[in-house]
Amino acid sequence: MSLRKIVIEPDPILREKSESLEKVDDELRSLLDDMLETMYAAPGIGLAAVQVGVLKRLIVIDISKDKEKKDPLFLINPKIIHKSKQTSVHEEGCLSLPGHFAEIERPAECQIKFIDYNGKEKELSAKGLLATCIQHEVDHLNGVLFIDYLSKLKKDMIVKKLIKHKKELNKVVL
Ligand code: ZN
Repeated sequence: MSLRKIVIEPDPILREKSESLEKVDDELRSLLDDMLETMYAAPGIGLAAVQVGVLKRLIVIDISKDKEKKDPLFLINPKIIHKSKQTSVHEEGCLSLPGHFAEIERPAECQIKFIDYNGKEKELSAKGLLATCIQHEVDHLNGVLFIDYLSKLKKDMIVKKLIKHKKELNKVVL
């Protein structure tokens, strides 16, 4: 396993639509393992492949609070098949937008179809933080970021700060 570099907004790749996968093999599992390790190291609770520069419909999630008992969820080609009318608000952050958080309203529950780590088709009903996390990550696969739900003013302000932040990161200190 190895750590991958996380893509920071603004970056055009984060606006691309990711492609579906045809098969689940060891190469794909190795990418999923890298994504999980990268997410844990960040640390974060969800990561989409596009955030490490790979335009494939892959997501890793772990919302377990107990650091000793990891509970990773691997989603390959996830498809939301149902969203509740009832909504809920969670404060969201994103590994591609470090240091920025906002309250986002989304359907409170969702149901998804996906392929798991072993290539098996599965369905999952989610509510609470997991439902929010799944919707946030599926958005990434479609080139959507949580700041897209904010007013233009708020969104522009965050992007401006991120541009500054990226410049600082690229400065070399000798
Ligand atoms: Zn994100």
